[in-house]
Amino acid sequence: MAENYVGVKFEIVRLPEEPIDDPRIGELIRAGRDLSARGFCPENSGNMSFRYVGGFVITRAGSRLGSLTREDFVLVTDVDIAGKKVFAAGDGDPSSEAMMHFLIYAARKDISVILHAHTLDLKGAIATRKIYPYGTPEFARSAVEVLKNHDLAILKDHGFVSVGKTVPDALTKVV
Ligand SMILES: [Zn+2]
Repeated sequence: MAENYVGVKFEIVRLPEEPIDDPRIGELIRAGRDLSARGFCPENSGNMSFRYVGGFVITRAGSRLGSLTREDFVLVTDVDIAGKKVFAAGDGDPSSEAMMHFLIYAARKDISVILHAHTLDLKGAIATRKIYPYGTPEFARSAVEVLKNHDLAILKDHGFVSVGKTVPDALTKVV
């Protein structure tokens, strides 16, 4: 199941490229391989991020979580949901789910890593109640509603979001 994107089309506002030197890039590359090996990331689905100075670093739109490289990570400094703008450093396109990651980081100051991929069969996950089109503010807000009080949410009929303080912390909730 590839992401069938019917959500908000964001304009990407380009900022100067900034070097991202963070050990979590290597950790997410390995986490992506792990999630993919479990069959959680068919085609180019799923996305991952970590909180970083000035915003958060997220996987590129269309990247394959099973075979990520350092070039697949983009720094997002801000998301203007009402104005439909994503502010990103460099020329990579951030995942279309940057808005959801932005809202989760705003709601959960205690976490620094977000993993999203596609399996619905996870123990201990709390599911969102309604189905919303992927990529819409309603979809993102329904995820935040669950994640306010839990670290693992199932987005109804879509996939999961796991959050944690570190990459291993977020990963152990799903594997
Ligand atoms: Zn998804």
